[in-house]
Amino acid sequence: MSRRKKLYEGKAKILYEGPEPGTLVQYFKDDATAFNNQKHATLEGKGVLNNRISEFVMVSLGRIGIPTHFIKRLNMREQLVRKVEIIPLEVICRNVAAGSMSKRLGITEGEQLPRSIVEFCYKNDDLEDPLVSEEHITALGWSNPQEMDDMIAMTLRINDFLSGMFAAVGIRLIDFKLEYGRLYDGDLVRTVLADEISPDSCRLWDMETNEKLDKDRFRRDLGNVTEAYAEVARRLGIMKENNVVSIDEGSK
Ligand code: ADP
Ligand code: UDP
Repeated sequence: MSRRKKLYEGKAKILYEGPEPGTLVQYFKDDATAFNNQKHATLEGKGVLNNRISEFVMVSLGRIGIPTHFIKRLNMREQLVRKVEIIPLEVICRNVAAGSMSKRLGITEGEQLPRSIVEFCYKNDDLEDPLVSEEHITALGWSNPQEMDDMIAMTLRINDFLSGMFAAVGIRLIDFKLEYGRLYDGDLVRTVLADEISPDSCRLWDMETNEKLDKDRFRRDLGNVTEAYAEVARRLGIMKENNVVSIDEGSK
């Protein structure tokens, strides 16, 4: 496995060439970054947790008919996925005001929104992923109206499903970020969910206490980051009690 070709190393994951054409291996690192890489740390066990949580979420979404890039988990840190052409957008869905939306619009964090909101950021680290409108996206050719409709419909469906899934284990889904990709099949192009869904890409609050169980623990120096991710995994029934680092088969 170690002689596979590395195609890309990002902030949280590494992509390797997969065993078959059209596949990739996604390796989940323990690195945590925030504020466009200005803050960086290694959180032992985070990659293992995100691999498992994202697998669970992708498989669950597949079962309700959401097309995803996920094929199978290979080991504690890696999953096999279909290689897609990433649409250069971060699709954000919000149920409760938080983070950049609270800051930008002066809405108190934690305020329930009158309806779920889908927004788009242009995926470009040099520009710090700026918020863009559908007009920008279609005019500049990052996507087209049909693909946008597909992404919005899928995102709202994912939101409903995940809100219910997390509510069942006492967690409020505040907001989350998705990435979609294009899968070419002859003349056909399908829009599929890609990347990951994990506490790195969602805001998850305990329903009773509002305790944060997501990456804000790292961004805001709240401590116990991996413990919070492990709590999410435990509640979803993915991992056994307090079994965080020991479940790691060892880094690859
Ligand atoms: P970043 O690139 O923001 O640092 P990561 O460290 O998570 O983020 O790197 C993972 C990269 O892999 C992201 O750029 C993401 O868009 C890309 N990616 C995710 N899923 C796929 C896929 N199925 N095919 C191709 N690229 C993917
Ligand atoms: N998010 C993400 N990656 C990003 C930006 C945001 O996963 O590059 C997620 C973030 O974890 C949160 C949601 O998208 O769940 C909305 O983030 P927001 O726009 O509030 O940005 P932030 O406050 O994180 O800068």
